[in-house]
Amino acid sequence: MLTNPISFLERSRFSPESLQTNNKFQLNNGTTVEICCPGIITFEPAFMGVAKTILLSSGVHGNETAPIEICDKLVEDLLSEKKQSNHRVMFIFGNLPAMNIGERFIEENLNRLFNDSLSTDNQEQIRAQEIKREVKRFFNTDSVVPSSHAVSKRIHYDLHTAIRESKNEKFAVYPYLHGHEYNKQQLQFLSACAVNTILLSQSPTSTFSYYTSLNYCTHGFTVELGKVKPFGENNMQSFTHVIDMLTQLITQKELVLPALKECQMDIYDVKQVIDKRSADFALHFADNIPNFTGFKKGTLLATDGDIEYRTLEEGEAIVFPNSNVALGQRALLTVVPCDI
Ligand SMILES: [Zn+2]
Repeated sequence: MLTNPISFLERSRFSPESLQTNNKFQLNNGTTVEICCPGIITFEPAFMGVAKTILLSSGVHGNETAPIEICDKLVEDLLSEKKQSNHRVMFIFGNLPAMNIGERFIEENLNRLFNDSLSTDNQEQIRAQEIKREVKRFFNTDSVVPSSHAVSKRIHYDLHTAIRESKNEKFAVYPYLHGHEYNKQQLQFLSACAVNTILLSQSPTSTFSYYTSLNYCTHGFTVELGKVKPFGENNMQSFTHVIDMLTQLITQKELVLPALKECQMDIYDVKQVIDKRSADFALHFADNIPNFTGFKKGTLLATDGDIEYRTLEEGEAIVFPNSNVALGQRALLTVVPCDI
């Protein structure tokens, strides 16, 4: 059993050896809890009916604290039986050592390691293998294995906060679906979370949400909830909607969602994915320019040695610019408005 005041997350971060892993126990309300390993815990209600399988991950980047605090609270409320889950739920707190030093990662960006690689050369690679193993075990013990996204009741929100300010403070990346249809109910849910901007990714990546969407037919999303702040400095008021909707998602059998036509969604297609190829890579706009700032057609956005990257369309906007990434990794995305 876990006893307060030391939370599951605190123990995972500061005394992981005190956690008995692969340890199952039952709460008074019949929920089976399993501590899979440090930072990974599941809840399974006694009676599920037509239930969802929900994966909530946070802290895949260690300094993105707001989602970690939100999930920490949900886990503690479930453990203390203040709340009761109606669905199978797994919580993953991703990069525990990076949280402890307030950094995005120790050696490597964990959110670029969700692929078939079995490498274990550094802490992040080892953690990625551990997460992939636990996620597989979680989904493979589902009572129904979905044959496609269309019928899937599996949900994965990988919760992040962005490095820079954003004109659209909250936004979600919809991973590449390989031609499968976008799920409208998910857009309604995200809108109810005050996440009204959606980026449609148009290619495979090595992010966590793409990985579960591809391999386990989840409705998976990378959800960006605002700007990075240190632990304890987040204004939790600005997360009211997302906290409320995640709580409802877990505790309610069915959700009441706003009609799609009432959701004011801004939907963007990813236009260019620009990787850093050399040490000469440079961005040609100011450091403090917010995400989703649009540019005139033909504007020079970046250079990489002799290569020039320019906007291809009027109003093409920048997202996630970061010239400090490792060689071969994404340094900039551009997006253009679209409909689905
Ligand atoms: Zn992140």
